[in-house]
Amino acid sequence: MENFVVSARKYRPSRFDTVIGQEHVVQTLKNAIKNRHLAHAFLFCGPRGVGKTTSARLLAKTINCTNLSEDFEACDQCDSCRAFNGNASFNIYELDAASNNSVDDIRGLVEQVRYAPQGAQYKIYIIDEVHMLSAQAFNAFLKTLEEPPPYAKFILATTEKHKILPTILSRCQVFDFHRIKVDDAVKQLKKICESEQITAEEEALHVIAKKADGAMRDALSIFDRIVSFSGNTISYSDVISNLNILDYDYFFKSTNMLSNEDLPGSLLLFDEILNNGFEGQHFLQGFAEHLRNLMVCKHPDTTKLLEVAPNIAGKFAQQAQSCSSTWLLNALNILNQTDFNFRQSKNQRLHVELALMKLCNLQRAITLTGVDDKKKSLN
Ligand SMILES: [Zn+2]
Repeated sequence: MENFVVSARKYRPSRFDTVIGQEHVVQTLKNAIKNRHLAHAFLFCGPRGVGKTTSARLLAKTINCTNLSEDFEACDQCDSCRAFNGNASFNIYELDAASNNSVDDIRGLVEQVRYAPQGAQYKIYIIDEVHMLSAQAFNAFLKTLEEPPPYAKFILATTEKHKILPTILSRCQVFDFHRIKVDDAVKQLKKICESEQITAEEEALHVIAKKADGAMRDALSIFDRIVSFSGNTISYSDVISNLNILDYDYFFKSTNMLSNEDLPGSLLLFDEILNNGFEGQHFLQGFAEHLRNLMVCKHPDTTKLLEVAPNIAGKFAQQAQSCSSTWLLNALNILNQTDFNFRQSKNQRLHVELALMKLCNLQRAITLTGVDDKKKSLN
């Protein structure tokens, strides 16, 4: 663990090929480089932690590389690449508009634009969180963006595209970055495990990827945290206890009990969950997600929406068989309502217990009202 470098930095992509989950962006950028048809301004939009700034830097490095590879990647060896990799490039400027958003900050940058690049083809300006620029700063920037010198390239990045003025938008080639899919994040975590000689249970990596909610950067920082906690072996149980996540086994058990009208069993199980330090709402939300997962297993077209480790997917498919779509839909409704009213409830424990009682009687209610379940699909 000596000289520990956070994974987000250590495994930051250094080639377009290693950018995760943004193939559509990489392909378009590479084509533009190949055809020498570069826009003079780019706008990278998308949620946080998905590789916008990394891609901006890669683009900057690549278009100034004097020795591009056959597949249009930077060589990492020419003067320009070496200067870039050593953070010493005179031709690439980065401005974080979150902390430098005044008109003076932008004026400083605009001043720079007048001078031609040194020893490279382009001067590149990366402005992160560009939506944070003040209105005045935006206006000062607009003129430069309208008539930039041929050697200047602007790469703007934002998490909030809707806050960008239409006058700016219309002058940029816009790229929409996607959230990182759980599977893609897991793949990347597996690679890191391999090169760091860490053994990890696949379910453990899935939980980390899921928790990161589409941001690779978050997945990596959670991963680092778990590694510093559990060393070179990462187990599912370590991860869920570290992240304070309810074991999916609880939800499989609850579903079984409730669909078999085992009220005592489900109340006792909920008691156990509370005793383990989890909140009632935590259980409600986790349970709703579990039922949602069972619901997507009901139809072959939607099973791909199930974001769990492959070895658990089978368990979901099996349990989905034993629950009718009508039961699942009504159960989800009850859980949703209970979650919605949870904060207002004076007795939150009873509030959840009441939901469990309703769920326990659900099958009977469905049978009584004669709603059948011939259509075993989502509609
Ligand atoms: Zn190079």
